Amino acid sequence: MLVLKFGGTSVGSVENMANVKSIVSEGGRKVVVLSAMSGTTNALVEISNTITEGKSLDALNLVEALNNRYITVVNDLFSKQTFIDESLEYVDAVFKELRELTSQPHSAFLYNIIVAKGELLSTFMFSRFLQQDGIKATLISAFDFMRTDRLHEPDSFYIKQNLDRILNENTDTEIFITQGFICLDADGHISNLERGGSDFTASIIGAAVGADEVQIWTDIDGFHNNDPRFVHDTDAISHLSFDEAAELAYFGAKILHPQTVMPVRDLKIPVRIKNTMDPAAHGTLIDDSAEGEGIKAIAAIDGITAIKIKSARMLQASGFLKKVFEIFEKYHTSIDMITTSEIAVSLTIDDATFLQDIVTELEEFSNVSVDSHRTIVCLVGNNIVHHPDTHKLFQILQDINIRMISYGGSNNNISLLINTSDKLETLQKLHRYVFEEALV
Ligand code: ADP
Ligand code: ASP
Ligand code: MG
Repeated sequence: MLVLKFGGTSVGSVENMANVKSIVSEGGRKVVVLSAMSGTTNALVEISNTITEGKSLDALNLVEALNNRYITVVNDLFSKQTFIDESLEYVDAVFKELRELTSQPHSAFLYNIIVAKGELLSTFMFSRFLQQDGIKATLISAFDFMRTDRLHEPDSFYIKQNLDRILNENTDTEIFITQGFICLDADGHISNLERGGSDFTASIIGAAVGADEVQIWTDIDGFHNNDPRFVHDTDAISHLSFDEAAELAYFGAKILHPQTVMPVRDLKIPVRIKNTMDPAAHGTLIDDSAEGEGIKAIAAIDGITAIKIKSARMLQASGFLKKVFEIFEKYHTSIDMITTSEIAVSLTIDDATFLQDIVTELEEFSNVSVDSHRTIVCLVGNNIVHHPDTHKLFQILQDINIRMISYGGSNNNISLLINTSDKLETLQKLHRYVFEEALV
């Protein structure tokens, strides 16, 4: 059994959907996970925000524009009239509901209900697109098996039980199609796995069905050694270990949702990243083996807040860090980087929702300073902390104001905290010296 996930661009045009059709119609039994067509989730987020701002007329106009786009897609995608009629009926029903939502009072669930429509639309249309060509495919609703628990983590037991049941009820089905990203929460309300979450859906399903492989089909030929949106001449990496991929995804590599590796790592189910527009390209294999030496890839994550906690009492006081950590735990705020000296501890968080409460509590026993607009740049590779050339990094970055360094936390990660305004220069400098001037 394989799990294949196709991202927004992969299902974003009739031409690309035809590529997906030829990829999924080969081979054995599989679950196909689809994102919303590219641009759709952003448009739905905008609709939700506009409703929340009380601008229901503007929201209605945005709904109309998106509706027109889908009418065009239906007419381009299908040639048989019955398929056009059935799909237009489905699209009409979805947009009727969206229109009704524009005049509803704001509720906590509005956003989740609205953004779920993108994946519902793409999977409906793609399953009919296969059926128009006589390819047998069964559309299964993510709401029938994908659920999170009270901690917003996937409820693995529930997911496995329900997926097993659905698969056993459809023993003659070769191709299952389902929505990425969307799920129910522990109370049965419509929810999602956060932006980019379709990758996570695929690996959750992969773990639940004990897949041979999870394939992430996207718009680029694999995991690159730096962020191609900011650096020219990046290259695809043919192999990454689970640990390396997890670190890169966690520290900002947009190609993978940060939690994608988690469900499959212990089960040793390989993840393969492939290019929908160039299926013959090798892509990137992510598995349990670690190979190669030196720096393999660089990633960056913005929106980081640095907090410095200074206290004379820290000097030789046991239990000081415990007190600090307990405050962050109380506000469910996870710490990414941490460095300590005799009188101070600096740490970073990426979720500043409870920053003010945290600072107020820390100030009861220390002096606190906060810097926002920081970026973590993360260098990843097998055993890089032991590589003889790694020290040259600091020479290369001598003009960059490095606020924190994390070295040796794991053997395959070095993280640097910099000002976000220095990100581009840092990524480009590191890329030039690490990958183009044969540092490794
Ligand atoms: P999908 O819609 O298929 O999920 P995403 O846009 O989420 O695609 O992820 C693919 C994009 O991630 C690429 O087009 C690229 O711009 C960006 N990206 C960022 N960092 C990397 C990286 N290290 N390797 C490859 N792509 C990356
Ligand atoms: N459609 C969702 C998003 O744009 C989920 C995904 O594409 O993975 O975030
Ligand atoms: Mg994505």
